Amino acid sequence: MASVAVDRPPSPSTSSSGAGDGMSREGSVPSSASVKSFPGSPFAAPSPDLHLTDWYRTQHQVEDKVRTLKLGGHVGFDSLPDQLVAKSTQSGFTFNILCIGETGMGKSTLMDTLFNTSFESNPAPHTLPAVKLKSHTYELQESNVKLKLTIVDTVGYGDQINKGDSFTAIVDYIDKQFDDYLQEELKIKRSLNAYHDTRIHACLYFICPTGHGLKSIDLVCMKKLDSKVNVIPIIAKADTISKTELTRFKQRIMQEIKANSIQIYQFPTDDDTMAKINTDMNGQIPFAVVGSTDFVRVGNKMVRARQYPWGTVQVENEMHCDFTKLREMLIRTNMEDMREVTHMRHYELYRKKILETMGFSDVGQDNQPVSFQQTFEQKREEHREELQRKENEMRQTFVLRVKEKETELKEVEKELYTKYDTLKREHAEEKKRYEELKKRLEDEKAEFQKRKHQIATQTLSTHTLTLGKSKKK
Ligand code: GDP
Repeated sequence: MASVAVDRPPSPSTSSSGAGDGMSREGSVPSSASVKSFPGSPFAAPSPDLHLTDWYRTQHQVEDKVRTLKLGGHVGFDSLPDQLVAKSTQSGFTFNILCIGETGMGKSTLMDTLFNTSFESNPAPHTLPAVKLKSHTYELQESNVKLKLTIVDTVGYGDQINKGDSFTAIVDYIDKQFDDYLQEELKIKRSLNAYHDTRIHACLYFICPTGHGLKSIDLVCMKKLDSKVNVIPIIAKADTISKTELTRFKQRIMQEIKANSIQIYQFPTDDDTMAKINTDMNGQIPFAVVGSTDFVRVGNKMVRARQYPWGTVQVENEMHCDFTKLREMLIRTNMEDMREVTHMRHYELYRKKILETMGFSDVGQDNQPVSFQQTFEQKREEHREELQRKENEMRQTFVLRVKEKETELKEVEKELYTKYDTLKREHAEEKKRYEELKKRLEDEKAEFQKRKHQIATQTLSTHTLTLGKSKKK
């Protein structure tokens, strides 16, 4: 007879494959199963009237009261996993891969090899001034399972003289995809079911097969990305390095990764069925891969291979390279785990940081739980007070400036008056001087006229006298 826990939230063990793994790794976040709504988000609380903390509290109270009952017969909810599978199959899946590696490292070839198809790609030049991310989305179908696959390429990576900030464009791209998802989640009318999720689920980091170790650009970039994305380092073009060199190279890479505390993606080992193989595969990272778009006849089969004058490297031959291991781990076994770790760990971290930057928190100053609405109200009040404070400040500044201007103007006015008085006085003195001058001139003129008249009179009398004398003769 089946037993059931009444009123319990859906258990991770009843979700579709892998859902439980991510949950137990996360610890504190409730299971999302692989359905499209995520209870881990405060914006996805089951009832619109219920706040996240209230909801959690209710859940805990409910769990305290849970009793285990025995069913009297078959009810039918054991078909839940099948319902989930049917629903997920119908809506299809998305998977997004980011390929980071220098130009010509074999990124496009490996993608073609992985999905056994031919994706569109043009060889990138080595002359780009900056790193650009280019994404292409494809609809694939295998049996009745639809997969929306996005492949993102880092064009121009490692081609610049100054490689110091080659990671910036990549970090920005990853954050932008998280932000787009968060914006959709925060919308009043959101449609996460129809939303094309472009968050990166797997980041394949192509290591140059130098045999020496990691370059500083590799270390810096992986370190910057390890908390944002599932980083899977792989040794590219592994056919260019000998077997013994490869073993040493792998060890050196892992030592450097550990020494720099870079958290690369680990295949999950908490599911008993996969624990052994995944533990084994974790020990073989970084996979040394070979890609090829050419097919060669081996026996009676056409296989992907690279042909050399001395022999053939078969891509899918485990004696030749780790390609099949990578495909097995990336696509066949752990795809859902990577999708889940992306949502539960990397996206949660991004979302937490953003919400905290915006001032939201699950607990108040007294360490007591606060609801989203309380925080919102408090923030609004703080914002209003801040606005009021700024307004007062501006008003005071305005009054002060007006006063300053008034004093300034008064001083200018005073200066002008003083100047005016001086000019007026000077003008009056000048006028007085001119009038005196004029008077003197007029006096001189009158004197001159008078003397002129006298002289004229004298001259006349002298003439008259002279004329009188000559008559007498
Ligand atoms: P991308 O610029 O990183 O996308 O590199 P491509 O996929 O365009 O490959 C660049 C060149 O490397 C091509 O000539 C490929 O044939 C070659 N190539 C790709 N994968 C391998 C490999 O595994 N081994 C070797 N030796 N050459 C490869």
